[in-house]
Amino acid sequence: MMDATAHVVVVPSTSSGHAIPFLQFARRLAAAGIVTTVVTSDRHVLELEKLVGSADRTAQGEPLRLLGLRDKQAHLSHEEWTRQVREVPEVREAVIRLLQEAVTDVASLQSRQLRGVPPAAPPACVVHDMFAPWAQGAAVKLHIGKHLFYVSSASLLSLALQSNRLFREGRTPITRETRDVVFSDIPGLPPISALDFPHTYLMAPVYDWFRKYHLTFQNADVILVNTFYDLEKPVLDALRNQVLGASDIQAGSIFEIGPLLPDSYVNDDTMEQEAEERDPCILWLNKQAPQSVLYVSFGSWAILSAPQLLELALGLEASGCSFLWVVRPPNATDNISAASGSSSDSVVEYLPPGFEERVKGRGMCYSGWAPQMRILKHSAVSGFLSHCGWNSILETLSAGVPVLAWPMIAEQHLNRRFLVDVVKVAIDLEANAYTKEELEGDEVRPVCFVSKQEIEKKVRILMYDAEGHFVRQNTKNLRVKAREANAPGGPSRRNFETYVRHLRDNAH
Ligand code: UDP
Repeated sequence: MMDATAHVVVVPSTSSGHAIPFLQFARRLAAAGIVTTVVTSDRHVLELEKLVGSADRTAQGEPLRLLGLRDKQAHLSHEEWTRQVREVPEVREAVIRLLQEAVTDVASLQSRQLRGVPPAAPPACVVHDMFAPWAQGAAVKLHIGKHLFYVSSASLLSLALQSNRLFREGRTPITRETRDVVFSDIPGLPPISALDFPHTYLMAPVYDWFRKYHLTFQNADVILVNTFYDLEKPVLDALRNQVLGASDIQAGSIFEIGPLLPDSYVNDDTMEQEAEERDPCILWLNKQAPQSVLYVSFGSWAILSAPQLLELALGLEASGCSFLWVVRPPNATDNISAASGSSSDSVVEYLPPGFEERVKGRGMCYSGWAPQMRILKHSAVSGFLSHCGWNSILETLSAGVPVLAWPMIAEQHLNRRFLVDVVKVAIDLEANAYTKEELEGDEVRPVCFVSKQEIEKKVRILMYDAEGHFVRQNTKNLRVKAREANAPGGPSRRNFETYVRHLRDNAH
């Protein structure tokens, strides 16, 4: 009989921005010969299957399988599923029980044994997403390893690991009175303003949930981070040098393994896939001059208000620059259909009259899910107006494209600070307070509005001026580091290999 192969259960969260790197992570494990079972909500499995290709193996034949939780909430949207698991104790307990059953039901997992793959041992650990901390509960009950794969930056992780201390010291959540405070004691981070904190630190009710989530980070046996050493050196060093407490993560158990992107993307300049090459936006880019186009996109779920969308259109038009803009209808309630282009709300009626005609030839408005990585790799693209989501940052740095930073929510303000002030690969877009009335409301962070003049000015700086040239050069330098990180002998690659060895050594 063949030796049993190490087996890992991976629990992503359902948002696209988290599921994409998780799937990439799961595929890397599978490619390294670790049997990898991805467990998530029933509904989410159906979507992931489209990305992976088949339920039991990837298109490349890696031993990876997808398992739904068979939960009663299968009919719910992703947002509602996540909310219920977070906020309704009975639902959370039920989901934890289902995950336990899935992990312990080795017989059923093994009965679907993969061709050519030795029988899988019982899972040695659960690797969960930051938004699926409940998965740690199942690992604790089963006495198996609890590992966190942190899909965002090490900087955000450093802040998260301090959040219970900040709470004990009465410094968070941030209030209207404390929003001007600067925090100078987050390991590895330069002084940061309270207003650059993720919105979860600024809203008391949500903050309490997240603070509890953060406790589970401290209890993880291993933390893997989707970053690379040359990008976040001071904070990674600081994280590894701190001892957080007796039961806390130990120095040496934090591994950066990023950027977790397809190898072909990071290494190969011609990652052409037939379907993408026929995509209208790629055909359009093919007709543009080299290094002339600004790519504009705000990620998988951010939506601009109608006045802001109009202002952005006017700013892009006035800049005279060529652009490819992934436009979503404003105030869409259903972000998933907006992102997939299936929303019934048309975007054209929100653009200035005659806009598309006036920018014809040099501007393209694209609705739907854009092939972002292919776009960033296109030789016509030389700037990215971005909401600063972490995946977008890793993708753009790995393509050597500098950023015009327009953060909106979550950790994007912190990411912007980091890109602009620390690694200097981005130019800041300044936002004005929107209206006096909104400022007088309960918002801790003022609702902001970016003017068309500011957009026009900064687009020109990024695309044509010396400052733009400076950040472009820095981005190109970091691109080399991103490539080296996962090349043979590179720091992220070595860390991943160490992690895989750890999994093998701990296989049951
Ligand atoms: N993305 C894409 N096409 C789109 C919008 C987004 O491929 O039209 C991908 C993008 O490449 C990235 C992810 O979706 O991998 C968005 O992740 P990010 O962390 O940047 O933003 P968020 O999901 O938080 O909005």
